Amino acid sequence: MIKVPALIPIARPKIGSAGKTGLWRIQKPVINYDKCTKCRLCVIYCPENTIDLLENLLPQIDYDYCKGCGVCAQVCPTKAIEMVREVK
Ligand code: SF4
Ligand code: SF4
Repeated sequence: MIKVPALIPIARPKIGSAGKTGLWRIQKPVINYDKCTKCRLCVIYCPENTIDLLENLLPQIDYDYCKGCGVCAQVCPTKAIEMVREVK
């Protein structure tokens, strides 16, 4: 029997023809780490896959690619993520 390795699809944001999608943002998610329980829901649900986990398992947003859609703030069970007006 041929062994087929398990494949896990992982999408990583890259610079495309539109460039860094963070430029589209008009609102910015800001994480209050005092409220974060490290549940990782924001990581799982971010449609741009722009949230990585730090070594201490706290989430960190890559603002180069975060579009400011607010999904992470919507799914966060502890309301640790606040959407604030982007200042450029
Ligand atoms: S605002 Fe949207 S794109 Fe940005 S980190 Fe949250 S879920 Fe991801
Ligand atoms: S969804 Fe909220 S509580 Fe869960 S890891 Fe993200 S910021 Fe932390």
